[in-house]
Amino acid sequence: MLYRIVGSFCFVLFFIVTGSGINAQTRQDRPKIVVGVMVDQMRWDYLYRYQDRYSEGGFKRMLKQGFTCENTHIPYSNTATGPGHTCVYTGSVPAVHGIVGNSWYDRSIKRKMYCVEDTLAQTIGVVDSGSSSSPRNLLVTTIGDELKLSNNFRSKVVGVSIKDRSAVFPGGHLSNGSYWYDNGTGKFITSSYYMDDLPQWVKNFNDRKLADQYLGQTWETLYPMETYVQSTADDKPYESKVINKEKSVFPYDFSKLGKDYGALTKSPFGNKLVFEMAKAAIEGEKLGSGDCTDMIAVSFSSTDRLGHAVGMNAVEVEDMYLRLDLDLADFFRYLDNRYGEKGYLLFITADHGASQAYGFLAENKLPTRISKAAGYVAEVNAMAKRKYGISKVIVNESNQEIYLNWDEIRARKQIDEKQLVKDVIAVLRKHERIVDAWPNRELGYAPWPEILKNKVINGYHPVRGGDIAIVYQPTKFGPSMGAGHGWWYPFDSHIPLVWMGWNIPQGHTNRLIGMNDIAPTLAGLLRIQMPSGSTGQPILELTNRQP
Ligand SMILES: [Zn+2]
Repeated sequence: MLYRIVGSFCFVLFFIVTGSGINAQTRQDRPKIVVGVMVDQMRWDYLYRYQDRYSEGGFKRMLKQGFTCENTHIPYSNTATGPGHTCVYTGSVPAVHGIVGNSWYDRSIKRKMYCVEDTLAQTIGVVDSGSSSSPRNLLVTTIGDELKLSNNFRSKVVGVSIKDRSAVFPGGHLSNGSYWYDNGTGKFITSSYYMDDLPQWVKNFNDRKLADQYLGQTWETLYPMETYVQSTADDKPYESKVINKEKSVFPYDFSKLGKDYGALTKSPFGNKLVFEMAKAAIEGEKLGSGDCTDMIAVSFSSTDRLGHAVGMNAVEVEDMYLRLDLDLADFFRYLDNRYGEKGYLLFITADHGASQAYGFLAENKLPTRISKAAGYVAEVNAMAKRKYGISKVIVNESNQEIYLNWDEIRARKQIDEKQLVKDVIAVLRKHERIVDAWPNRELGYAPWPEILKNKVINGYHPVRGGDIAIVYQPTKFGPSMGAGHGWWYPFDSHIPLVWMGWNIPQGHTNRLIGMNDIAPTLAGLLRIQMPSGSTGQPILELTNRQP
């Protein structure tokens, strides 16, 4: 058998020549585009909870035609949007990639740092209000960066989302443009990190004034209210406001809100805006039409904004997922038409899950917070004042970590620092919401189950992290209204991961997969270097093919 390989480095056609004659078989050795889809706050069980009423073309199509990793978990403790989007696209954990939370306490500037904060950047697309967003705080490369590095920057990478952090981290350092939604104007914007002026296609998209159109509409349930049997009654006391309306009940008439563009982000219209922007980006940047594989990262934030407001048992959440499923089906049809069913490589996952609301748990005799106990920060500060004369020994609390006030502590030379840390931990351990507290630099010795210990270690960054890690009770720390997230427990850590399209076999696995395995798997599929901080492993069921 004789092989002749024809084509460029990026676009390879195999002509197999047999002894009996030319049996020309062509196959594409790369996808035209990678489509990364993230659904903010989507728990794994949502794939099945609402499945009876999902369409054939959305989530169900992915499960039928694609490969689902049923037991995918987040491998670190602080499950939030910034770290989640970063982990998926870097294959790394906060201890390495540095995005330890949506924000953290920065000891060098003595204030909170927002994860995509960039004081050197200006907002592009609206009147600039000071600093803007970029991936400058991200310490490693992303899979999109590696894709571009693999072919001398000939691939294009674009990120699109409602939230800035959900567009910035997936786009990476080398993004051709990461775009997010501006609550003040209903437009998609970016920052001067990427460009000095919006591309014409973004200006054209903004000129369509889709947000204004949606603000003239009403959100009603897709089906009759009594058919929402997977959810509680529409009116519950533990639902906070979705929009500026007294009660969180259907219908939601956006036309009564004036120009409240931000309100759309808690509704299915927020998802529609992102779908339309993604299509505009594909067309505007001509993604998937060049010699090299391109990538678009599309992230839906409205699922999270709504979930925080009403909680995971609300009719609103069920209806949003039923509508998201229809929009996904439409998006898949769009991609089929443009690239062919096997011309694109798509995965869908989430940045974290969600807890139940306290009110729901209490109503149903499930373990929950029993009292509004005083904050432990006040208790620790009171102890330190009494025993050491320090007025504020905790300078910050972020991401389940306590940052001690070392300026104050070290100003008093006679203080036994080790004893002080022990005293702080003793106060924390007495609190009803806390399982345990442990010095961050000694986490390896914590008497916890390995799974918990590893997750806390993976979440701790020595420069950006605090001094003491706190482990909360599973159901005693969270929002009194709506849903919360941020903890290591399965309700937050268990996420969907389904692959579809180019070179993806039909199938499933129930073995444990890490969120940080996604980027190394993409690297294996695309045959490029994995991102610089990757701690995950390729999913061999997907990458195991002939060299
Ligand atoms: Zn959230």
